[in-house]
Amino acid sequence: MKLICPICQEPLEKINASAVCVHHHTFDYAKQGYLNLLITQSKDHGDNLEMVKARTDFLNTGAYQFLRDALSQSVQKEKVQVLADLGCGEGYYTSALPCEEKYGFDLSKDALKHASKNDPASHYTVASIFHLPLPDACCEAAVTCFAPAACEEIFRILKPNGCFLFVTPGPCHLFEMKSVLYDTPYENEMEDLSIDLRLEKDVMIEQKFICSQEGLMNLFLMTPYAYRTSIAGRDKLAQAGNLELTAQFRIRTYRK
Ligand SMILES: [Zn+2]
Repeated sequence: MKLICPICQEPLEKINASAVCVHHHTFDYAKQGYLNLLITQSKDHGDNLEMVKARTDFLNTGAYQFLRDALSQSVQKEKVQVLADLGCGEGYYTSALPCEEKYGFDLSKDALKHASKNDPASHYTVASIFHLPLPDACCEAAVTCFAPAACEEIFRILKPNGCFLFVTPGPCHLFEMKSVLYDTPYENEMEDLSIDLRLEKDVMIEQKFICSQEGLMNLFLMTPYAYRTSIAGRDKLAQAGNLELTAQFRIRTYRK
């Protein structure tokens, strides 16, 4: 296990149901199997149970399976031993990645409960992705899907020649849903990343899928739109019925 103590940065060792460092700082595993290494009070508690449930139900429909497959193929090519997923949520992508030793980090306990129950072989840990409980240069690969890129930490934990896969929504991602929600829908903006890694590959993948009414509401809850949308827009979506949607993702591969 590569995790380090968040208090003294010494390696943690798993002893029974706890992780313990040489200075006897002790962190207990939750009964679902995840570890909480967050020592500072964070205002951000990550996604709540309602969002986690909506996302799990939606992902189980398989609409984003093609993204999971694309990421798995990328990791497969890299021959990765140790991988960190920053902002792993309920582990939908983490669990599928072909790699011997995986670490998933998220602030949401509700998401990690689900992740660790489903995928007990991976190390799911409550921690800020901006202060990772990992030593320097310990991973061949880092992944971030739909979360902010913690550029400094990613650079720090990657081995030389390690890769970072960064997934963001493409400009037209779910445009049809935005067309229902907003009078003047706009495309997602593509932001450049300021990171000390070399951009090696930059691809856009997309697939259309038919989304049920229930799927639409789940999708709505798991996206930032839920906070920005008027009641009128929400009502329109609740009556949209089945809708054909475009899932579009940009996958950037960086190399250290
Ligand atoms: Zn310690």
